[in-house]
Amino acid sequence: MSEAALSTHTAEFLKRRHGAWIAGRHETDGLDGELDVLDPASERAIAKVGLGSAAHVDRAVAAARKALSGPWARLTPDERTRLMLRYAELIESRAEQFTEIAVLDNGMPWALGQSTAAFCAVFLRYYAGWTSKIAGQTLPSTAHGKRPDELFAYTVREPIGVVGAITPWNYPFGMEILKIAPVLATGCTLVLKPAEQAPLAGLLLGELALEAGIPEGVFNVVVGLGEVAGAALAAHPGVDKVAFTGSTEVGRLILKAAAGNLKKVSLELGGKSPVVIFPDADLAQAIPGAGMAAFMLQGQNCVCGSRLFVHEKVADAVAEGLAQFARSLPVGPGMEKTNMIGPVISAEQRGRIEGFLQSAEQQGARALAGGKRLDRPGYFIPPTVYAGCSADMRVVREEIFGPVVAMQTFGDDDLETIARRANDTVYGLS
Ligand code: NAD
Repeated sequence: MSEAALSTHTAEFLKRRHGAWIAGRHETDGLDGELDVLDPASERAIAKVGLGSAAHVDRAVAAARKALSGPWARLTPDERTRLMLRYAELIESRAEQFTEIAVLDNGMPWALGQSTAAFCAVFLRYYAGWTSKIAGQTLPSTAHGKRPDELFAYTVREPIGVVGAITPWNYPFGMEILKIAPVLATGCTLVLKPAEQAPLAGLLLGELALEAGIPEGVFNVVVGLGEVAGAALAAHPGVDKVAFTGSTEVGRLILKAAAGNLKKVSLELGGKSPVVIFPDADLAQAIPGAGMAAFMLQGQNCVCGSRLFVHEKVADAVAEGLAQFARSLPVGPGMEKTNMIGPVISAEQRGRIEGFLQSAEQQGARALAGGKRLDRPGYFIPPTVYAGCSADMRVVREEIFGPVVAMQTFGDDDLETIARRANDTVYGLS
């Protein structure tokens, strides 16, 4: 699709100058330069976004603290529910724009991009129902020698305060809404630091929140580099909680940075999940199932099923079927709607994945499909299947975050043994 064919909303949004979104307006003063947002399918710049500094994080946190005690704090739960429902409706009315931005910003296939507005609306509506159901408890206390009917003890649930949300680039809109929706339901406020590789979704969600009537300062967005704006947010004394989704490595840094004022922290980190195919499986279902578990969203997915265990009786059939399946998936720009595998996010990420492909060859794995980048513009790695893998290989041990599956076999072992192999990873499983 050419840029001329983009919806008016998207074309206008991409043309605008985006700064740090603080208290309902774009601040462009004192930016740390500008970032070219690249379409990973063409490597062309589609928008320019200002890079926020630690000073912008400071101002965004101040705006979020102010909003905590402003009109936002005086809304009833029912009023917050209504605003959230209005926000969900506004997002659904922009479904086309969400699809276009998700595809251009992240590179995902069109069909996945089409799921983003509905994903956001579903989560907002779910959390909108919670505003009136977050209640404290009455406690039968016998403190100070009193009987429970002589001492009234209770707990009141209050907003945690300002939340610093730091998100990855792999599912723009989705990763952000999972932070914003609970913040709105609980009466907290937010400073979002989206991933610099795909920052547009966060900015658009911030603008639409204001348009839906959510007061200024409740939802602020500072696009910036992880080690600058992300680190400043994680360490900021005015932030009460950090909600982070990203790599395990950065998760460790966040924990340390949050220790200064003992922030609450939630971390959603990397993955290396197993898929197990037993000899009695219906292979017509199991093969595409295992394939899409590994290749969906180019494998840039924390629930990616990148370690495949197959019973030796069906190993040949699965290997052949999976290689055929991998080769049958149309690879190309997400804007061409029939493509099912898009580019990976960046040249850097493609380079990382190629490092894994080289290591697989050096360590003796056999590539049955893919294994090399495509010779065309855009950061394309085709779906890749490795057979003959063993537990010590890097492609088996480490998160690749690319469309790569590493196959190992098992014999007539008991379930305990198979489970032990499937669970043999430092990552959480899904
Ligand atoms: P990343 O850890 O490199 O970056 C995530 C975010 O952290 C980005 O916004 C980045 O700018 C920021 N950041 C980087 N350095 C920072 C620092 N020193 N201080 C504060 N913030 C910093 O991860 P990524 O490459 O964007 O995303 C891929 C990772 O995310 C994978 O490991 C994937 O498994 C994980 N992920 C997990 C889930 C989940 O729900 N568990 C979901 C999606 C992605």
